[in-house]
Amino acid sequence: MPLIDFHTHFFPDRLMDALWRWFETHAWPIQYKQYADQAVATLRAHGVTRAVSLHYPHQPGMAESLNEWARRLGEKYPDFIVPFGSLHPDDHDKENILRTCFERYGFKGLKFHCHVQKFSPDDPRMAPVYELSQALDRVVLIHCGNGPHFKEKPTQGYGYDVTALSGADRFEKVIRKYPKLRFVVPHLGFEEMDRFVGMLKDYPNLHLDTTMAIGGFFPNPVKRGWFSENADRLIFGTDFPNIPYPWDRELKALRALELGPQAEAQILHDNAAGLLGLASK
Ligand SMILES: [Zn+2]
Repeated sequence: MPLIDFHTHFFPDRLMDALWRWFETHAWPIQYKQYADQAVATLRAHGVTRAVSLHYPHQPGMAESLNEWARRLGEKYPDFIVPFGSLHPDDHDKENILRTCFERYGFKGLKFHCHVQKFSPDDPRMAPVYELSQALDRVVLIHCGNGPHFKEKPTQGYGYDVTALSGADRFEKVIRKYPKLRFVVPHLGFEEMDRFVGMLKDYPNLHLDTTMAIGGFFPNPVKRGWFSENADRLIFGTDFPNIPYPWDRELKALRALELGPQAEAQILHDNAAGLLGLASK
């Protein structure tokens, strides 16, 4: 059965090293310290048929080289890697970066991370991103839920309280303004999963990815009804290689919900293929 991992992370080696140091200091130990080529081989060995590669510049001025790197990765693995671009809200000439991503590189979407990039989803600096993505029918995957954060020390890792900028209320302002934009919110909107799942019925172009939300790594429980009632709007992803457990932990958790072959095919492949404009089988 075809299997799309909609949420994998690919960075140049030195940046990946820095990312892993951050994770091991502030978040969790990385089980798979694999650079790009090895990570592709591992995913393929596990039966993944395509992977959406995500990066996000944590400072202005980095986006163009990261996007170019992602383009080359996609060219190296044209039948496997689906590269997404990004930019930083403080980048100059966002229009040019976006047009390069969409028109020269042919990227199907963009990835943003409100916590790392320190912006709110309704930040006016993001307006050009949303406007052009909506106009050109591209996907915007945006980590904008307020988790994970550390309740006992809310500034840990980022130096500021991430809940001040992110969250379902701030996101809903944006999706109301751009209802045709195909947003994907990762991690089922963790830690406000009920709120984000509830938004699916109001916003037909919203999708949620399941990354790191279903395998029980975080204690927040998921409800089977979320999956059975929204199988056409949920998308499987893993955060590979930056995960603290075996690759298939979440795949097993999803299958344990016993949603049936049709819902599983939607979540594991069909919904992603539709968003990415890939052949349906
Ligand atoms: Zn991620």
